[in-house]
Formats: sequence, structure tokens, C-alpha cells
Amino acid sequence: LILHGSGWPLDKHAHGGWFLYHGEDNQVMVGLIMDLSYQNPWLSPFDEFQRMKHHPVLAKHLEGGKRVAYGARSITKGGFNCLPKMTFPGGLLIGCDAGTLNFAKIKGLHTAMKSGMVAAETVFDAVANESEGGEELSAFTEKWEQSWAYAELKESASFGPALHRYGTLVGGAYNFVDQLLGGGKLPNLHDTTPDHAALKPAAECEKIEYPRPDGKLSFDKLSSVYLSNTNHEENQPCHLKLEDPAIPIRDNLPKYAEPAVRYCPAGVYEVVEDDDGQPQFRINFQNCVHCKTCDIKDPAQNITWVAPEGGGGPNYPNM
Ligand code: SF4
Repeated sequence: LILHGSGWPLDKHAHGGWFLYHGEDNQVMVGLIMDLSYQNPWLSPFDEFQRMKHHPVLAKHLEGGKRVAYGARSITKGGFNCLPKMTFPGGLLIGCDAGTLNFAKIKGLHTAMKSGMVAAETVFDAVANESEGGEELSAFTEKWEQSWAYAELKESASFGPALHRYGTLVGGAYNFVDQLLGGGKLPNLHDTTPDHAALKPAAECEKIEYPRPDGKLSFDKLSSVYLSNTNHEENQPCHLKLEDPAIPIRDNLPKYAEPAVRYCPAGVYEVVEDDDGQPQFRINFQNCVHCKTCDIKDPAQNITWVAPEGGGGPNYPNM
């Protein structure tokens, strides 16, 4: 069984959708995809996901089951308008690393594979022409722009921006006309606000009270992270770099109630009190599941995720 849906629990607060797939051996994979352009700093993607699993459409597939795995990841789903330059000296940026996912279809394997095939053909030609390596394979760009995958992404370029600009109903209608009747010929809409600049001050937003997890369908962050088999070598430098260590408490806390505490799906960031009752920003980098949300969503763009020492990180089973 394959289920895709949108709406609750995000309808009031953010855009996104969910999936539920049946796998082998009676397993069910369920997930929530949420746009990081949300405005309310009180929002917690992790808790929205926990709440979502209680919807009867999903709950009936999960009740009586046992939670065996957990993970989180940022997806480059901006589509055609967000594709970067995909060539650089000595390398090519392809597939989901470049953002070839077609979110309108909730599919990305086919376009990622096509970009890989075009890359392979380009590299093969370069090797056949006795390229010395290290140069920029600009022939890739031309081949890629002539591929069906590029045309498909171009056709659905406005899908996300239409939903963001006009909402689910009108945006959905725009997409219906654009995709199904117009073949992607309506004006190409763009999202122009970076995700990190989308947050409103906490004082202007409704505080969201999430229900406590019941331990059957919904769970807390730390026991979930345990199931991601995340491991980092002890005593290594923190791989989440703050450009200015003062910003979380000085700026983000009063203005946005430090949203890192909620947008991180692994409980890495905490605001704790020191012995004098003063707030301190704590980074539990050992828990990091490498989703990169902090690098994208921090309103001050103060956090940079770098690869940790020793190749540590989540170790997802069955993936
Ligand atoms: S610290 Fe950043 S990259 Fe790591 S899990 Fe949290 S949000 Fe994701």
C-alpha cells in the first residue's frame, strides 16, 4: 500500500505532505516532509510528525506495531528554480545533491538516475578523448539541458512556489491548470525569501502546545535518536560551528525563543540555566543525525555543519 497526503497537522502552520509505505515483513515506513519556509518559531517538525501519526488514516496501520527505526534529513526539493551550477573543475554535482527531485511527483529516483547517466556519458566521452582530468566538464550542462529529466523539472518549476504563494487550494488549482492542462506554460513562479529569513518573531506567533507522546504511536526525541544508531567519536571537536557563540542567547532567544531547540529533530540544541540562573546554549553534537536543518534554518545563519571526525553519524538500517 502506498499513501500520500497533505494537510493536517501542517495546514495551519506550514506546508508539506506525508507518506506511508508498506514494506517487506510487515514493515511500515511513515514520514512527514515539511517545508523549512515556515514562519512560526514555536513549530517543531519532530512534534508535528509525532502528532500526525495519531490521525486515524495513519494510526490504523501503526497500532500494535513496534517502532524499529528513526531518521531525519533535509531534502533539496526547490526543483528547477533552485538547481545550482552542476559542474566544477574535476567534478559534477548530480542527483539529489544538486536537487533534481521532482516534488510535484513526489519522486526523485528517476531524475537522479538520469542525471547520473548523463554524467557517466560525459565522463566516458572525456576519458575517450584522453582528458587529463581536473578540468570542468562543461559538456555535461548541454547534455543535461537536452535531457527529458531537465524538461520534466522545468515543467513543474512553479509547483512549490504556487502552493506557498496562493495556499493549498488556489495554489493546487494553479498547478492543476499549469501541469495538466497547460504543460507548464503558465508564468514561472519563484520563492524569493530564503528559509532562514522566513521566521517571524516568537511574540507575534501563536505558541504551539504539542501533546505528550503516548509511547505507542508517538515518542520523544531522545529515544527516537537512539534508534538512528547515531555515533560520533568521543572527544572530537564539535562539528556544528557557531560563527558567533553569543548569537543564540543574545539574539535568537529573545526574538525567536531560540528555534534550534525545536527545529533540530535530534535534540542537539538546548537552552539550559547555569549555576547563576543565566541561560546557556548547549550543543549535544553526539546526537546529530546530520539532517542539516540548523545550517539552513538558523535565522542568523550562524551555524555551519561540517563533516565530523571519524566518519561518525547516523547508521540507518534498511536504507
Ligand atoms: S544539529 Fe543540525 S544537522 Fe544535526 S540533527 Fe540537529 S538540525 Fe540536524
